[in-house]
Amino acid sequence: MSLKSDDPNYYAHIYNESDKDRKRIRILDSTLREGEQHPKVSFTTKQRIQIAWMLDSFGVDQIEISPIISTDHFESTKTIIKQGLKADILAHVRAMKSDVDIAISCGASWVATYMGVSDIHLSTKLKITREEAKIRALEVADYIKSHGLKARFTMEDASRTDPAFLIEMCKEMNGHGIERISIPDTVGIMRPRGMYRLVKVVYDNIDMSKTSLDVHCHNDVGLALANALAGCEAGADQIHTTIDGLGERTGIPTLAESAVALTLIYKSNNDLRLHMLRDLSKTISQYTDLEIPESKPIVGDSAYKHKAGTHLAAILRNPSAYEILEPKIVGNRRKIVFGELAGKNGATYLLSLLGLETGQHEAETLARGLKELRMGDILELYLDDRLERKILNDAALKVKE
Ligand SMILES: [Zn+2]
Repeated sequence: MSLKSDDPNYYAHIYNESDKDRKRIRILDSTLREGEQHPKVSFTTKQRIQIAWMLDSFGVDQIEISPIISTDHFESTKTIIKQGLKADILAHVRAMKSDVDIAISCGASWVATYMGVSDIHLSTKLKITREEAKIRALEVADYIKSHGLKARFTMEDASRTDPAFLIEMCKEMNGHGIERISIPDTVGIMRPRGMYRLVKVVYDNIDMSKTSLDVHCHNDVGLALANALAGCEAGADQIHTTIDGLGERTGIPTLAESAVALTLIYKSNNDLRLHMLRDLSKTISQYTDLEIPESKPIVGDSAYKHKAGTHLAAILRNPSAYEILEPKIVGNRRKIVFGELAGKNGATYLLSLLGLETGQHEAETLARGLKELRMGDILELYLDDRLERKILNDAALKVKE
């Protein structure tokens, strides 16, 4: 799909250089691992299997789950691996042989291990030296490889690690045939340019024909997705997401925002069933009892809601005036709101919907009335195709400028 000048988003895509930079950026979804680390979130085995099927059908490339948390998680991992899904299932474990054994007994073909590599993680969490960390990591890497399995190694807290040590570790992993290295911003401290430089320094120092890079960015300051995308511009080719952005503290990029950013803005050639996004979000909300915030991009109830009178008028003529994509593409719906901000245009549409006279006098009276009521939003309607046609076809509907 090339850019077309009759596309309302045309100039934005030119600024974004969407045609120039395009490469396929993959998605690993970690709802079943990182997502379950969100406060109060715990899925049942049945729910985990259902989520895995939905994610696979949506089209993510990899799904991550940890078998070491409990026997329940072990059974879930084993059962999900047996489903024969298209996505790779990664068993996520600590960088320890005994954990790798658990992954192997689940039947995993991909093992994802992690180890804190920053000085603070080495000294306070693992209580080992850099040299000991390197020896331990390599032993585990070789152990996984000796079983003929594919491996990912996560350099936990990479963004706060001495670059010399980070590069040394990445080079070792690269040399030992590890398929993927994950570069996380574990504490969400990076800005996009910083994340770019962090990934670039790894990219420039390893043989990329042997190893690919993941980015795992935390959202403590709300920059997770921007940072992850910057990391991909520097050479990573896989973003970690969770449905609704669940995860430790404030989580990681949401699957919905990542999927739409990749498809619409980055023109990445993924085969994603975007229309499932709202349902995925609703399913998780049901399973977790966590409400989807109204203002959540893509899947929130307000994501395609239009309120100001001038917006309503433009939306009814051509939704592209205030929307970058059709809500139905992502399984959401367009809504219009009538209230004190409706103005004359909004009032005219409301009169038309109710089958009343839509003359200038009536519209002005209603608009004034809505304002004087001071009750905020009075009426919200889904603007489906049928309703949109009715309004537009209504001969009486000629809003006087
Ligand atoms: Zn994380």
